[in-house]
Amino acid sequence: MADTIIKIDLSSSPYENEQVHNRWHPDIPMAAMVKPGDDFIVECHDWTGGQIHNDDSAADVRDVDLTQVHFLSGPVGVEGAEPGDLLVVDILDIGTFEESQWGFNGFFSKRNGGGFLTEHFPEAQKSIWEFNGMFTKSRHIPGVEFAGMIHPGLIGCLPSQAMLEEWNLREKALYDSEPERVPALATLPYAGTAHMGKLSGEAKARAAAEGARTVPPREHGGNCDIKDLSRGAKIYFPVYVKGAGLSVGDLHFSQGDGEITFCGAIEMAGWIHLRVNLIKDGMAKYAIKNPIFKPSPITPKYDDYLIFEGISVDEQGEQHYLDVHVAYRQAVLNAIEYLKKFGYSGAQAYSLLGCAPVQGHISGVVDIPNACATLWLPTDIFEFDVKPNADGPEPMVQAGVDLPLAKDE
Ligand code: ZN
Repeated sequence: MADTIIKIDLSSSPYENEQVHNRWHPDIPMAAMVKPGDDFIVECHDWTGGQIHNDDSAADVRDVDLTQVHFLSGPVGVEGAEPGDLLVVDILDIGTFEESQWGFNGFFSKRNGGGFLTEHFPEAQKSIWEFNGMFTKSRHIPGVEFAGMIHPGLIGCLPSQAMLEEWNLREKALYDSEPERVPALATLPYAGTAHMGKLSGEAKARAAAEGARTVPPREHGGNCDIKDLSRGAKIYFPVYVKGAGLSVGDLHFSQGDGEITFCGAIEMAGWIHLRVNLIKDGMAKYAIKNPIFKPSPITPKYDDYLIFEGISVDEQGEQHYLDVHVAYRQAVLNAIEYLKKFGYSGAQAYSLLGCAPVQGHISGVVDIPNACATLWLPTDIFEFDVKPNADGPEPMVQAGVDLPLAKDE
């Protein structure tokens, strides 16, 4: 068995672990060193560092401190890695901890984080998912069970100083275009809750003041939330600093395309088994700007879907020009209304679409003025027949069970 080079303790704060950090900065010291060809195991907190509990209240989701996220394990330094190389990362396996056989999904309050459908679901709600080997079920969403397509929501290498400054500049400009907006247009550096790994004193204060938040995906990968980056995938990361500095976290037991609920997929603590190799000068050789990857040879086999279409005309009937965000939102809302006919609440349907191995496709972007997006709902995850038929839908889900809700005061 490979060495575990980063260990975590679920019963203590991630701030006490020097091999964990929650900002991107080139000065964060390597938490551990490996050589090309090595394989090793890294343990990870859930993305919130234990703020969300396995209970039937959404108060923790409502009150979450989002300036703390994401807690990442790393950075792992790779001997011989230089800017311009490609870091080749094989995800050999991912697993759960024996003492933590559960995960969470939820949507944030509109006043604290929001989400894709925050105008429709402005209050905090959550669902808890129990793991049974490779399968998962929720006591809050009856009638479904599915296999986990387990993956890291967040993985990437440290940025260079120049790249970090470019990120901060462009994101601040966007934020400043509407600074009062709720939820905000971007998450800016915030030293108050920054955890900079082994850095301390003045060096820590300097880096914390400009360290990039971990929320958006960027050129280095980062928080891409791609469900197909699952165990068995091979990823090619651009390297920007000496040693590469690979960090990983935000493990998901399962997620639908888009991670529409934002809090988030089925979020979990766990471990990931990785192998690293280098392609010297690979960025120029292959014209790599953003990571590329090969999917796993093993994925859950769902091959029958109900596919919901959406176009770029919003809920108020307003016409948008080729806007895939609006179009995907309509596809999601159409799927939610459909699922309500089987007895689900809107919140249950929304949560399910964030958790299950739902596919999202950008189907058309040239047929002016409407973009077309599609949401692919796997039919075999349901314990009942979810397809339309001449007799009409039968409510299959018992009434009285819904997601725990926490209202803003
Ligand atoms: Zn996540």
